[in-house]
Amino acid sequence: MTDCIFCKIVAGDIPSARVYEDEDFVVFLDIRPVNPGHLLIVPRAHHQFLHEVPDKVLQRELVLVGRLVRALIEAIGMKDYNILNNNGSDSGQEVPHHHVHIIPRTSEDGFRLNIPHSSYKEGYAEVIAGQIRSKMGT
Ligand code: AMP
Ligand code: ZN
Repeated sequence: MTDCIFCKIVAGDIPSARVYEDEDFVVFLDIRPVNPGHLLIVPRAHHQFLHEVPDKVLQRELVLVGRLVRALIEAIGMKDYNILNNNGSDSGQEVPHHHVHIIPRTSEDGFRLNIPHSSYKEGYAEVIAGQIRSKMGT
């Protein structure tokens, strides 16, 4: 994608503070970090949504997240953290190239997920669960 800022970073056309790269991924510091060490794991191939990314890349991505978390713990003393992946503008995705955030957390950083919990009407949870089960073949 010629107009995608993360494709440009992957191609090396825009600078980034890279911490890791391999045949499938580039990992660099978020330019506007919640806290120092805030990382973005970016597949080289352009897909906007997680569900568009091939399984093989998704599997490697989660293993890579684990390795990077352990590196952050040892390198900068990270203790608590969030793994975040936004999908689509309604979710708050700003850059439409799939990526995963690793966000080191502190009690004072002001980052809030603020999940507005609702509830199911009588019987509706079973309807939804059944619809999903049928697509999962279970
Ligand atoms: P999201 O809202 O999940 O799409 O997050 C996009 C993230 O990309 C934001 O946290 C931005 O700070 C970050 N970002 C945008 N441009 C750059 C850039 N040139 N280098 C590093 N991070 C960037
Ligand atoms: Zn892209």
